[in-house]
Amino acid sequence: MNTFATQIISSDGMFYFGRLKNMIIPAVDGELGILPGHEEMIIALKEGILRYQDGKEEWHKAAIGRGTIQFANNRCTIVVDTAEKPEDIDINRAKEAKIRAEKKLQQKLSEREYRLLQMSLARALTRLKLLEKN
Ligand code: ATP
Repeated sequence: MNTFATQIISSDGMFYFGRLKNMIIPAVDGELGILPGHEEMIIALKEGILRYQDGKEEWHKAAIGRGTIQFANNRCTIVVDTAEKPEDIDINRAKEAKIRAEKKLQQKLSEREYRLLQMSLARALTRLKLLEKN
């Protein structure tokens, strides 16, 4: 058992389906490493960079939105709002989304509007961070 079955599902469909050796997830409490045989868990994911190593030992990165991860019986299921590979990210769109969210956050907002804008800003910052590091 040196790999675990993984599905990463976003609102756009299946983002990844296959076996992984290792994964580092942006959990709400900080980054968490997942290896084969991990104990059962269901936890929340926040906007951030997901790193995963496939069966050929190659590491990949993705920008993800909020969601959850479930691990049970050596199977991992991740369900997230959004997931993008670095090569699929439009840098200008992310920069514009960041500026738009920052501007709107200076206005008077309802709690819900504030929360949604914070999430939008976090997604834009994650996309930009992933491109920086890539
Ligand atoms: P925007 O304000 O630019 O639409 P957003 O953060 O509100 O950004 P999301 O709701 O997170 O957008 O995503 C909507 C869809 O667009 C998803 O499929 C997501 O993967 C894709 N997407 C969002 N921003 C980008 C980007 N900068 N580059 C590529 N795809 C993106």
